[in-house]
Amino acid sequence: MSDTNITTEQLQEWDKRYVWHPFTQMQDWEREEPIVIVRGEGSWLIDSEGRRYLDGVASMWTNVHGHCRKELNEALKAQVDRLEHSTLLGLASEQSILLARRLAGITPPGLDRFFYSDNGSTAMEVAVKMAFQYQVHRGRPERTRFITFKNAYHGDTLGTVSVGGIDIYHATFRPLLFETIQAPAPYCYRCEHGCASPAVCGMQCLSALEALMEEHGPACAGLVIEPLVQGAGGMLVQPPGFLRGVRELCDRYGLLMIADEVATGFGRTGRMFACEHENVVPDIMAISKGIAAGYLPLAVTVTNDQVYNAFRGDYAELKTFFHGHTFTGNPLACAVALKSLELFERDNLLETLQTRIIRLAERLARLTQLPHVGDIRQCGLAAGIELVEDKSTRRPYPWELKTGIRVCLEARRHGVFSRPLGNTVVVFPPLAITEDELELLMDGLERSIVAVTGE
Ligand SMILES: *Cc1c(COP(=O)(O)O)cnc(C)c1O
Repeated sequence: MSDTNITTEQLQEWDKRYVWHPFTQMQDWEREEPIVIVRGEGSWLIDSEGRRYLDGVASMWTNVHGHCRKELNEALKAQVDRLEHSTLLGLASEQSILLARRLAGITPPGLDRFFYSDNGSTAMEVAVKMAFQYQVHRGRPERTRFITFKNAYHGDTLGTVSVGGIDIYHATFRPLLFETIQAPAPYCYRCEHGCASPAVCGMQCLSALEALMEEHGPACAGLVIEPLVQGAGGMLVQPPGFLRGVRELCDRYGLLMIADEVATGFGRTGRMFACEHENVVPDIMAISKGIAAGYLPLAVTVTNDQVYNAFRGDYAELKTFFHGHTFTGNPLACAVALKSLELFERDNLLETLQTRIIRLAERLARLTQLPHVGDIRQCGLAAGIELVEDKSTRRPYPWELKTGIRVCLEARRHGVFSRPLGNTVVVFPPLAITEDELELLMDGLERSIVAVTGE
């Protein structure tokens, strides 16, 4: 496949010998024959044997316009011949300026101060530190705590694990973490209240949140939330009005609202940013995954003048935000991000996306008939299909059975790559996937669910 004579077997062997994969039990991995991807083409990934797979998870939720999109490739090539990297510590650089200005035109009103970093975890780590230091500067040093949600995921660094709420990932590290005040997750099926409907659950969770704020509000710097949908928690969709309610409570109790739009940003929910669905303007917003269309690592923590100005002062006041990453504002990534935003417009992506969102909803509705499909949750062009051992009681498959993983392994035989979240099968294709490809993707997943759960 590539221009060397290295065989697939050699690549697989060297992978197992040298590469430690993320979120992966390597003992299982070493027993399998890993697929080695060597090329990408639109919604397709192509392996070293020439087999094609639909990219059902948009390469970890990043891909927007498809793989190797000509215009993006050209923007990257043009930039690399001008400047590959220059630091933002002590220097400004062209592409980071142009991108920030461009982003200011699409982020919620008032959010036009852009602090660059290079991945979702750092964007959120920055958000948390920024909120904390902001409270110090405005004379509220007692506001040290954060309100977080159950099932939340904000990244894998220690600060972001602290504000996370997925025990299977996070519990091991508890002795290293700072404590937060955890509010119940605004999703019926998981909230343990046994609510009658998601709307009731939303109200219950808001009341619980209000009670927490009443008690702890004055000690809190901010609240951290994934707007509209908790992604890694299992595509847990919040009922309408919830996000707005959270915004109102943050205002009433003086907490900064930190919206983690790392997964939801850049069109995934059907609008450019999830907060737009509820006309919510957070105080701090983290964006990353889709920002550079899945090409390069890039992230931004965006905030308003009020937060920004609290950090201004005489040098000796030490109000400086002492935080920064080496590859901050990388020109290659920024150039691709700029071109990606141009393509959003040129392709009318947010409009054409709507028919694919409807098509996905239709395909998901069909799955409700299947005997082992429990809850199905969709938010824009993202969905989670929960597999259950017993549909009437919603009893989940024991996690040791790896049902979700087995469905995704089966899907490969149908030319589909997906990766589950526990027993939830994830649908998260490139935004630019064609309707035909979306049908193929759903055909493959449906067949695989039937095959594995029918055993
Ligand atoms: C993926 C994700 C992150 C972490 O981003 P990384 O680039 O993997 O560090 C943070 N928040 C949310 C909501 C995410 O989905």
